Amino acid sequence: MKVIVVSGGVISGLGKGITTSSLGRLLKARGFSVTILKIDPYLNVDAGTMNPYQHGEVFVLDDGTEADLDLGNYERFLDQPLNGRHNLTTGKIYRTVIEKERRGDYLGNTVQIIPHVTGEIKRVIREVSESEGAEVTLVEVGGTVGDIESMPFLEALRELSYELGEHRMAFVHTTLVPVVGPVGESKTKPTQHSVRELRAIGIRPHLIFARSPVPLAPEIKTKISLFCDVPPQAVISVPDQRVVYDVPLVLEAQGVGEILGRLLELPERAPDYTAWSEFLQRYHHPDRSVQIAVVGKYTELRDAYLSHSEAFHHCQGRLGVGIRLAWYDSEELTRDPALLQRVARSDALLVPGGFGPRGVEGKMLAIGAARSSGLPFLGVCYGFQMAAIEFARTTLGLTGASSTEVDPETPDPVVCLLEEQKGLEHLGATMRLGAQRIDLVPGSKIAGLYGRTEIRERHRHRYEIHPGYLDRFEGAGLRVTGRSPDGRVEALEVPSHPFFIGVQFHPEFLSRPEAPHPLYRGLVEAALAHQQSEVRAPVPPSPAGA
Ligand code: GLN
Repeated sequence: MKVIVVSGGVISGLGKGITTSSLGRLLKARGFSVTILKIDPYLNVDAGTMNPYQHGEVFVLDDGTEADLDLGNYERFLDQPLNGRHNLTTGKIYRTVIEKERRGDYLGNTVQIIPHVTGEIKRVIREVSESEGAEVTLVEVGGTVGDIESMPFLEALRELSYELGEHRMAFVHTTLVPVVGPVGESKTKPTQHSVRELRAIGIRPHLIFARSPVPLAPEIKTKISLFCDVPPQAVISVPDQRVVYDVPLVLEAQGVGEILGRLLELPERAPDYTAWSEFLQRYHHPDRSVQIAVVGKYTELRDAYLSHSEAFHHCQGRLGVGIRLAWYDSEELTRDPALLQRVARSDALLVPGGFGPRGVEGKMLAIGAARSSGLPFLGVCYGFQMAAIEFARTTLGLTGASSTEVDPETPDPVVCLLEEQKGLEHLGATMRLGAQRIDLVPGSKIAGLYGRTEIRERHRHRYEIHPGYLDRFEGAGLRVTGRSPDGRVEALEVPSHPFFIGVQFHPEFLSRPEAPHPLYRGLVEAALAHQQSEVRAPVPPSPAGA
């Protein structure tokens, strides 16, 4: 068992998730088998009950775990599916320890943080690593060194390093080197303090990843080396990149792969980045460009829609089409008609998932504009439910149609609570979650995009399309083109429209750099066709992408 631990210092939000994912890519490029765990020191059992404004998107795994968004980065960089065991939280660990105590597993003992909580943490890490037979296990510790919540986890990792012995564990510490003052001086003091904090708990980092807006000058590397007791070549400069998929090559260029290989005594192997580099080459040199409007209510915090943005990055790198995302707050659309005009002049529209009544009318205005003007549209989860309601109101004339989530008294509950949700008392992990099979209608546009009729996609919802309206939908030109084996509506499309597709599931979670999701790819291709079908100035290329 070999383990790489990534911790963070100075501030949170340094992109540790991308660093950890990139290390995984470095190892996979050398043909090593890798697994990866995220430690979230908060007390929530999972991320499902957290507001996207605080923690960004909730990422859903195949097994239905509602996880931290870094699990999405891991899946995208490593191209391997993960499950709930790969996301540890204080809530989960304590829950298990308390259950064991109640069962009598520790009978006679006083149950304590050391050794019982730390023991449980080590047990989970060992179990994941051993059961998957991974040559290297990556462990990212969320939060910042010095936080009370992360102490038991760091202590457990220190113990594990002692138990495993020499050349079995490497510690990577990610810090911030701010650039301050009128002459733009790079400051190492926060890094020095944060490394001191880490050493005080018995962990000596082997590598320091310095996040900074600019590349580190050699004298700054030397200074960090001296104060933090790491060789200068182990001080790695990680300046901001145009796209996160650049980071593995930034680390590779500074010899991180070799340094880790030596630290962990891994067999020497040359990395292969052929496909990865081709992706970046196309990504950075698009020959055309489209603008896609995204209408949602968490638009100030882009992390709330992270997997959607990533899916478009994948399309850009695969198709060589520059994709500019234009974000619109759905509430503002109802107040400012000029904004709606701008949405209509985009090359395509995405309405992602969401919850609650705020902003739904704006989403429906945008969807209505797309439906009536031939603008390509993809609706995901709430976006799909809104498309059904908009259709019922406008085309079927059911002006009071709504979702019971928005209006419990609506005369036409086109979207209503799933039967099994009725009477539920707990909100944690009780939605319809995870990967489920869906059968697509042969000959439909969506089946054409997937190139098959049986698919599996991830879900996260409590409400569904009411079956009582389907005959009228079909009669008026909105077709059901996907269903679950038990008959729930999973996909709707307007066959007479160039591209109008809504899906109950979340395709964004399954898009990968190597394989952009077919629905996003289809939307981008439809956006290109839409752009070419009109006489108007093309949107200027944006190499920086989405
Ligand atoms: N609020 C809707 C539901 O619960 C949609 C959920 C979502 O978009 N993820 O069904």
